[in-house]
Amino acid sequence: MPICGVLGWPVRHSRSPAMHEAGYRALGLDDWRYQLLPVPPELFEETVRGLPTTGFAGGAPGFIGANVTIPHKEAALAVADEATDAARAIGAANTLTFHVDGRIHADNTDAPGLLDALPLDPAGQTAVVLGAGGSARAVVWALVNAGAAEVLVWNRTGERAERLCAEIGGRPIQAPLPAADLLVNTTSVGLRTEDPFKALPLGVDAIDGYPCLVDLVYGSGPTALVSAAQAAGATVVDGLEVLVRQGARSFERWTGQAAPLDVLRAAARGIAAPA
Ligand code: NAP
Repeated sequence: MPICGVLGWPVRHSRSPAMHEAGYRALGLDDWRYQLLPVPPELFEETVRGLPTTGFAGGAPGFIGANVTIPHKEAALAVADEATDAARAIGAANTLTFHVDGRIHADNTDAPGLLDALPLDPAGQTAVVLGAGGSARAVVWALVNAGAAEVLVWNRTGERAERLCAEIGGRPIQAPLPAADLLVNTTSVGLRTEDPFKALPLGVDAIDGYPCLVDLVYGSGPTALVSAAQAAGATVVDGLEVLVRQGARSFERWTGQAAPLDVLRAAARGIAAPA
């Protein structure tokens, strides 16, 4: 029985189990399972190293891979024996794959997942990225490596944007924000009750300056940024679509099969899958 899971702390709210298990069912992978793996930071390495992997070959339950979320993405890269260039450059991993000989492989599917979710080819385009935390590193790396003409990074704590750009690429900026082809919110503003138009250097009218908006934040309904951008007629990608696309990349790595995107999407959104 192949098992995958998501390592996080807290992780109870994760939509990944519903998404991946719906994908397994759609592809007839009836004995595959996907589990929540709540692990506190101090137990991360020993838990990951202790996950049973070899039994799977004989039909017994065994772990094949795990997604990794807050706060373990840097630790996930550190625990791995091998890693993709993307994971190393970003400095974080969200996808671990367990080989039967005990080796652990780390990848970062947040970066290609963002590009998969974009409705435009970022090559030659300009982008403003809000935030300089873990997810911003993947977003900036993805856009720079996809050939964006300019990737401008604003962060509340300016030094963090400067450090990110020095390590990964892009150019740190301060408010006021310039118009651009693409605006990506990677801050956690919008997750709770903060008003993005107060917490971020962005007036509601300024949304007009961005024909395409990606908001990594997601909750039970559209975020205020997503609603404002939709009202302004922008092309909008919400955080759930980005979640689906990074999950689909992990799914494909572990199962070796194309992810049924519509099924993953419906499960992530808690709606019935299209017939
Ligand atoms: P993180 O590493 O903790 O970074 C948080 C970022 O938000 C920092 O840039 C921080 O700025 C900024 N921030 C926090 N509160 C702020 C405020 N009141 N005003 C302005 N800026 C503020 O977090 P992360 O891992 O990058 O995740 C960020 C968000 O993206 C979370 O909501 C997470 O759920 C979401 N996310 C979604 C996906 C997806 O697949 N959809 C994937 C990854 C993350 P300072 O540096 O100034 O503190």
